[in-house]
Amino acid sequence: MKVTVFSNDGSSSVQVANRLTQKLINTGFVIDDQTPDVVISVGGDGTLLSAFHRYTHDLAHIRFIGVHTGHLGFYTDWRDFEVDDLVVALQEDLGQSISYPLLEIKIEYADTHEISRSLALNEVTLRRYAATLRTDVYIKENFFESFRGDGLCISTPTGSTAYSKSIGGAVLHPRLDAMQMTEIASINNRVYRTLSAPIVLPSDEWLLLKPSKTSDYVVTIDQFTFKDRPIASMQFKIAKERIQFARYRHTHFWNRVEDAFIGSKHEI
Ligand code: NAP
Repeated sequence: MKVTVFSNDGSSSVQVANRLTQKLINTGFVIDDQTPDVVISVGGDGTLLSAFHRYTHDLAHIRFIGVHTGHLGFYTDWRDFEVDDLVVALQEDLGQSISYPLLEIKIEYADTHEISRSLALNEVTLRRYAATLRTDVYIKENFFESFRGDGLCISTPTGSTAYSKSIGGAVLHPRLDAMQMTEIASINNRVYRTLSAPIVLPSDEWLLLKPSKTSDYVVTIDQFTFKDRPIASMQFKIAKERIQFARYRHTHFWNRVEDAFIGSKHEI
């Protein structure tokens, strides 16, 4: 099995990554960052996002593992003090995996009509800062609403606990093949009207945004930001690709949610 360790540049992550890499070499694993079978990210959920974008070209083949140097995350099953256990689990690997949906985004640029295709693990946002974002929203080919406000966020189920949750989106179980659109500060008054609630779409439907003609949009795809290009349209659907994780242990999704957002609590 070819393995690579992908770390953020925090000193504790680098230390854990070096220790893990040495243990992997000592136990006979081949370290290969070009064509790995397994990518182990060391840091947090944000580091796993970066590892995902580094290896999006080979998702059918790669399984990811997340090691968290802080608390337990949503993409991370292992803590930094469990590196020895992780190496044992890798030695006993039987190819166990679990996969989650990704978001496909196609942007058609108004200047060249070039279409770019990307994948998001968490979410894509379309925003304007200096002025109101105006965009028509279509579900499949049907006009749904005219949005005015700060922006829109389209997220995956695993991304629903990230930015989407901060702007009032629902938390989706990652077993759902769905995407969620959440509004960012929509304008609602006698003149302008949006649904004013997050919507969740199944995998056989798609969203199309046709923003008004301007170039000062800001588009984010997970941790990346793109701006200052006129956009003709943006199409969102659940991608045919999925992210696969090597799953040697199972943490119940709702336990992760409870642990991350609620913490200590008492039954009545
Ligand atoms: P960052 O600003 O360094 O990290 C943002 C926080 O989001 C970190 O605490 C990160 O956890 C957490 N996070 C990332 N993915 C998550 C997920 N699927 N579920 C729950 N929490 C998650 O940015 P970054 O590390 O480059 O990550 C980019 C992501 O940050 C974006 O995709 C966006 O979802 C999120 N973000 C959220 C807000 C907000 O909630 N207001 C604002 C900006 C960005 P770790 O500490 O484990 O890395």
